[in-house]
Amino acid sequence: MSDLANKIVILVTGGSGLVGSAIRWEWIFARSSEGDLRDPEAAKKLFEKYKPTHVIHLAALGNLFGIDLILADNSVVGGLFKNMKYKLTFLRDNTLINDNVLQTSHETKVKKVISCLSTCVFPDRVQYPLDETKIHLGPPHESNFGYAHAKRMVDVTNHAYHEEFGSSFTSAIPTNVFGPHDNFDLEDSHVIPGLLHKCYLAKKNGTPFTVAGTGKPLRQFIYSRDLAKLFIWQLREYDEIDPVILSVGENEEISIKQVADAIVKAIGFEGDYKFDTTRADGQFRKPASNAKLLRLIGNFTFTPFDQALEETAAWFVQNYDKARIGQVPKANEPE
Ligand code: NAP
Ligand code: GDP
Repeated sequence: MSDLANKIVILVTGGSGLVGSAIRWEWIFARSSEGDLRDPEAAKKLFEKYKPTHVIHLAALGNLFGIDLILADNSVVGGLFKNMKYKLTFLRDNTLINDNVLQTSHETKVKKVISCLSTCVFPDRVQYPLDETKIHLGPPHESNFGYAHAKRMVDVTNHAYHEEFGSSFTSAIPTNVFGPHDNFDLEDSHVIPGLLHKCYLAKKNGTPFTVAGTGKPLRQFIYSRDLAKLFIWQLREYDEIDPVILSVGENEEISIKQVADAIVKAIGFEGDYKFDTTRADGQFRKPASNAKLLRLIGNFTFTPFDQALEETAAWFVQNYDKARIGQVPKANEPE
């Protein structure tokens, strides 16, 4: 599937009439080169330029290309291994970004902000399944406490803005997300894009495919396209300050081994693969309930995992030259 085929362009005929005017939304997709949101002045300039009435706040540390950052390497986005390495950077930079986005939204009278949290905000030791009432019941897992605390504070801040100023600032908690346009760095990425890239190179170069950890941890994955639809629902319909978990059901947890098997199939890798059990497993599981979401939305059809993974793998293979692949060791470089 080409990148162009993935692009969604919506034509609304009769768009200037009564009905058309009621659904006219202008979307601005800002990236860091438009303004480094760790800088309050850059945040102000961005908001002055576009004058948003609503904000979906996804920016997080984050793709660091183009930003003058203190990190010693050139690595990008999160995932277990990156979160373990840069706890202070993730804590400080995400705190700055979140504070600047919310305070600028407040100052410029934005009507609604939805900030994106993550299931890592939840306590490590808490009764499962995770649900929206349990965020602040204990410390997060130690492997990513910097990122988790920065994200957790968004919920606290949303409530404070609401109580002091009546602001409609809320948040969403997706489980692990994957899909086209992810960061496919070999190491500093999440499990699905990282393993897709490793498996792709193993097939191409006839080298071993190695999965980090034991393969036993369980995760709930949501396809980025399903998540996008849920954000639009939340923007239109959701009135609470408290977060809502955006996820497939807690009965749809799958193991990292099942993920690796699906990746082997999607890439068409025929060799053996192994687990490097010297590497960290991270949290064993963090099952999250989507009961609140389903109660509010009524019904929602999630894309089946295998289909979503195949679409993602096909996108990655077809877009290898322009995907975010990070630094690939010389021996593995594509011809
Ligand atoms: P991503 O692919 O790394 O994209 C991060 C986005 O944030 C990019 O647009 C990036 O812009 C921007 N950004 C980073 N630093 C910035 C800065 N200092 N100033 C302005 N913009 C900045 O991340 P993602 O996976 O789409 O994640 C989106 C949100 O979902 C994040 O809040 C993340 O915490 C949350 N989330 C993700 C997952 C997951 O599994 N991926 C799971 C749960 C929650 P550039 O591209 O220009 O750098
Ligand atoms: P998180 O732990 O939920 O934040 O998310 P990740 O996407 O980083 O998934 C981590 C899990 O996948 C851990 O159990 C890792 O041991 C396992 N894993 C296996 N191979 C990889 C890999 O190449 N990259 C990452 N990030 N995790 C991997």
